[in-house]
Amino acid sequence: MIIKQCRLCKSDSLKKVIDLGDHPPADTFIPQKYKDIDLPRYPLSLTKCSACGHVFTSFYVSPEERYQRYEYSYDSSNSIVSENHFKDFAEDVLDTKDFSPDSLFVDIGSNVGTLLTKFKDKGLNNVLGIEPSENISKLANSNGIRTLNYFFDKTLQNNLDFNNKADCILSANVFNHTDDLGEVFELVLDLLSDEGILVFEVPYLLDLIKQRAFDTIYHEHVHYFSVKALKEILNSYDFEIVKLKNIDYMCGSLRVFCQKKSSSIYEALEVETFIENENSFSLFDDETYLSFMKDIKNMKIKLNSDIDSILKKGGKIIGVGAATKGNTLLNFCDLDHNKISYLTDTSKLKVGKYSPGSLIPIKHDDEIDNSVTHLLILPWNLSDYLVNKLSFMKKKFLIPQMENLK
Ligand SMILES: [Zn+2]
Repeated sequence: MIIKQCRLCKSDSLKKVIDLGDHPPADTFIPQKYKDIDLPRYPLSLTKCSACGHVFTSFYVSPEERYQRYEYSYDSSNSIVSENHFKDFAEDVLDTKDFSPDSLFVDIGSNVGTLLTKFKDKGLNNVLGIEPSENISKLANSNGIRTLNYFFDKTLQNNLDFNNKADCILSANVFNHTDDLGEVFELVLDLLSDEGILVFEVPYLLDLIKQRAFDTIYHEHVHYFSVKALKEILNSYDFEIVKLKNIDYMCGSLRVFCQKKSSSIYEALEVETFIENENSFSLFDDETYLSFMKDIKNMKIKLNSDIDSILKKGGKIIGVGAATKGNTLLNFCDLDHNKISYLTDTSKLKVGKYSPGSLIPIKHDDEIDNSVTHLLILPWNLSDYLVNKLSFMKKKFLIPQMENLK
């Protein structure tokens, strides 16, 4: 279903600005027994709203299709990079506001509880995760993080006491996945104490466009936030941005601190600076997206020509890190098991499965064999870490990043 109204401001003045072709949901890693069943593919394209500047997926794919076809495979604790990131996130929150030992911290889309663990490590034990995936929330509870297995939607009001107000509501890389943000902000307003703080992280549209990070586009990522659009939606739900940061995580993200307008906090000065930067980069102009499309088509041609020449010389290429974004890259560049022998990962939730669309088998990092000549680093944002970790193997690296593919 094509979306006909802006997901934030409801305007119908929309324009398709990015088109990556038809893709299956990128986060659906396929168990062996379902390997021969074709996954449905949906148009993967982005629309820009002329009224508020918001960018979002043009085609609606239901949450069931995005997350629940098979067991969900994303585990937020699966790398030292994400562990360090969540530690920094927690410290930043605790530097911003004073809390008491019994303050309640609620994490929306808490995954296995990695972020909440960092608060417990600081002696703040009153933590609660809300996680829609059954297998992931079980893992969280077994890790000692109290977690309710629900979507953060109105049904939660039947299962959680909203009179017990939260002092801090957290969310990392979740609001960009959320179809109905209005419903979420209404619930946050209800659950958060008047002096409480909402802190969330979402990937930043400006970083995506600047870096040509087209592989961070997938159906699970419904929204692509600019500060201009975020400010508008937050203000309309009675929130003000009290602190704002641009961080490196997920190829460039925003960390947004908000409080209720009623608690007399003034909007942070940096908000206008971010919006000025977006305007001076022409983030809301159609021409910016035309040149983005031209560049990524050239990247596809260059990557394929590099890979074909390696294979012609008898090389063997594997992909390292079965990251979700790798699936957009593989499918957009028409790379499958005929060119990439296998992928490797350390997550138990991915090893033994197949990548969606490209159907490349996933092995454990320890199983890289001697005949491999080249490692294609799929999570290129972690390339420093991965190259360092794997350099002892004396293989050549392919890093699919704009500066390497011009
Ligand atoms: Zn709009």
